[in-house]
Amino acid sequence: MAKWTRRNFARTVAGAAAAGSLSAQSRPAGKLKIVDLKCAIIGRNPTVRIVTDQGISGYGQAESYKPYLKPMVLFYKDYLLGEDPTDVNRVMLKIRRMGAAKPWGAAASAIEIALWDIAGQAAGVPVHKLLGGKMRDRVRVYNGGVRFPMTGHTPQHYAENMAKMKEAKEGFTLIKQAVGFHNGAMMRAIPNAWYDEPRTGASHPDKGMLTERGMKHVIACVEAMKKVLGDEIGLALDCGPGHTVKDSITFARAMEPLHIAWLEDLITGDYTIHPNAEQYRDLTQATSVHIHTGEQLYGREQCKDLIEKQAVDVLGPDPEDVGGIGELKWIAEYADLHNIQIAPHGIFDGLIGLAAHVQMGAAMPQNFIAFEYPLGQPEWWYDIVDGLPNPIVKRGFIDVWDKPGLGVTFRVQAAKARLAAEDKGFFD
Ligand SMILES: [Mg+2]
Repeated sequence: MAKWTRRNFARTVAGAAAAGSLSAQSRPAGKLKIVDLKCAIIGRNPTVRIVTDQGISGYGQAESYKPYLKPMVLFYKDYLLGEDPTDVNRVMLKIRRMGAAKPWGAAASAIEIALWDIAGQAAGVPVHKLLGGKMRDRVRVYNGGVRFPMTGHTPQHYAENMAKMKEAKEGFTLIKQAVGFHNGAMMRAIPNAWYDEPRTGASHPDKGMLTERGMKHVIACVEAMKKVLGDEIGLALDCGPGHTVKDSITFARAMEPLHIAWLEDLITGDYTIHPNAEQYRDLTQATSVHIHTGEQLYGREQCKDLIEKQAVDVLGPDPEDVGGIGELKWIAEYADLHNIQIAPHGIFDGLIGLAAHVQMGAAMPQNFIAFEYPLGQPEWWYDIVDGLPNPIVKRGFIDVWDKPGLGVTFRVQAAKARLAAEDKGFFD
């Protein structure tokens, strides 16, 4: 994905390096073949490169807090070598059954995205054309990651913090905030907010029945934030997992007069291996607030019950966990058939992931709400990637670009300088 020049094409065809994307005029005439699969941890994002025999490389990415993923990506290498990367579904058929619920679907997901990048470049078209073409010229994003430091955890603190997000330069039309068990600091700010003791461990470990005081505290924090936003900007809440069904219903009903955009992961969610569709259906049927889950799911199979049982109103799989952008497009179409909305998770998906979200979002059916806007972290990620608009987000939307593939390219020299010693050969 380096900037295309005729010189580097000659170099790559000669077999020296395959870091560049190709212009439409230079598309390969014959069948492409995968000759290598590489993975480097750039910053903290596992970044995948699929190398072909004809000078085209495709890139994909996994969430920034998964640096442990590299061996899992490379595990798939033997399955991919020799395959035609433009037959995306046939290649994925070889490996998709070897993935699993988050985080173990991320490696296959990153590979899927890299295959689409190659397929688009080989055809000389942006990936959204291969997914059915543009349904929209700009894609709405929601704010899940542009944050300002909290100075406390009372309702007043949340209101002050929300006022800053409201003024963010991206002009978001929809903001998501963590509450309940998704926000350990909020729950620990008052004594005895729930009946179990606070837990430590991986990703949102608390669970249990809320006390009256705990429930009132969470509701008061939301009311304070909502007062700041009014009806100008939507407020979505990431709430769990770990709440009981009855607490979830009580909370959802308290949110009804506030017109909250959605309530995410109240019962199950982040890293929960079973989505528990029956309990979500009970909750969904008991309230007029849109109920959301799905970021932990891998593959259409794990989404099937939630969709067919009308268990939720909004599904939020992450393309970097669910199996990629083609997979999520398929799930979105099936959800649309059941009048279920789509709001993909994406906060940690990095800038290659951002490009994948934009291509996928452009082609999504009418049930698409917005995707969660990923940030380049560390900040120098913005210095090693070309092709993103400037500014990226305008009034809460990103204009869809039309460059081949994912349409973003590495500034290879600058990117090389950020590689760890063990990844030095990533762009060679
Ligand atoms: Mg979430």
